[in-house]
Amino acid sequence: MKTLVAQARSQFLALNQIVNGQSLVYLDSAATTLKPLVVVERLQRYYAYESANVHRGAHYLSDRGTENYENSRLQVAQQLGAESSDEIIFVKGTTEAMNLVAQSYGAHFLNPGDEILITEMEHHANIIPWQMIAQKNNFVLQAVKVTPDGELDYEDLRKKLTPKTKIFAVTACSNVLGTINDIPTLTKMAHDVGAVIVVDAAQWISQEKIEVKKWNIDFLAFSSHKLFGPTGFGALYGRKELLQKMPPYQGGGNMIAEVSLEKTTYNDIPFRFEAGTPHIAGAIGTTTALEFYNQFDLNEVRKHELALLKAAEEKLKSIAGIKFFGRSKTRAPILSFNLEGIHPSDVGQVLDQQGIAVRTGHHCNQILMNRFGIPGTVRASFSIYNNESDVDRLYRGLIKAKEFLS
Ligand code: PMP
Repeated sequence: MKTLVAQARSQFLALNQIVNGQSLVYLDSAATTLKPLVVVERLQRYYAYESANVHRGAHYLSDRGTENYENSRLQVAQQLGAESSDEIIFVKGTTEAMNLVAQSYGAHFLNPGDEILITEMEHHANIIPWQMIAQKNNFVLQAVKVTPDGELDYEDLRKKLTPKTKIFAVTACSNVLGTINDIPTLTKMAHDVGAVIVVDAAQWISQEKIEVKKWNIDFLAFSSHKLFGPTGFGALYGRKELLQKMPPYQGGGNMIAEVSLEKTTYNDIPFRFEAGTPHIAGAIGTTTALEFYNQFDLNEVRKHELALLKAAEEKLKSIAGIKFFGRSKTRAPILSFNLEGIHPSDVGQVLDQQGIAVRTGHHCNQILMNRFGIPGTVRASFSIYNNESDVDRLYRGLIKAKEFLS
């Protein structure tokens, strides 16, 4: 039987603390989720009793570490609906995954004049790696426009996605607008013109059941810390046929078959892409985070989070001069807004003084900020551990911020 969402809150000890004289209200899960006690305890157990290097196989702890590390790869493969765990490469997170695909696939298989298509709602992690290889190799980088409601402009997409496009790199879910894009459709559209699709699932991973194989996705990346897991750890899914032809991204231990001064032959996938001692605790903590997450009914999680989003929107819209960004029909529980005449970082500061954690600024989406002609937004994001009282505190906090700053 699935565990009830209402019981989740007690797993997050961070919520039991006083910040600036008030109990903490954490509304910054889109930046990183809090960690449940089971994950914290699992990490502690690893570091206290199990710490050893993996893939060296000389002793008990090392063997056990390797088993746990590789088991995590299997869990991640299952979570994403991959065909085999060879298609899962462990990385630092979404950012490293995008750099890996750009350098190892993009820089090798594209020719000068080829086009890379991104969108105006991309996080810098899904812009800069492409810009770097485009500038160096004379590829053309283009971006699909975003509508005033914060959705992808499909008319513009159909104009820009052409047989010249070799890579379409797109977020499945905007970390600013909450917009959830239709990845199965976008994948089909990319394939119809002969492009590969690279999906940024950093925010999506906590929202929908992902099926990379079923939807024929070429590359997809996520970060564990946005799904109750450790920071500095994530995974890249790559279709086997693509990964097999890609050269290594970094050189070092673990990624080799044979080394001499003249020449190195490389290990098979996925190890070819994992140079050096990996983030073993990250992998083990991710297994526990996935187990934690999967004990809930995803529909119930979505219902809970979207109810909070709706309640927040309803309450906050009564505040004079508030402007929301992002009104997509399919949304993640992310609410971006500004109070007229007040800088978002000032709002964030006054909320923080009341123990309310939100994110303010450009959210690593400067292209999107330029598109809306704003320096930044205040962003409140909701997760499994938030409740109606958090929405109420946010509302009252904003009323105070307005009084104080107007
Ligand atoms: N893409 C999106 C949509 C994100 O929200 C984030 C994290 N804010 C990233 C990419 C980058 O993730 P990480 O910093 O874990 O590499």
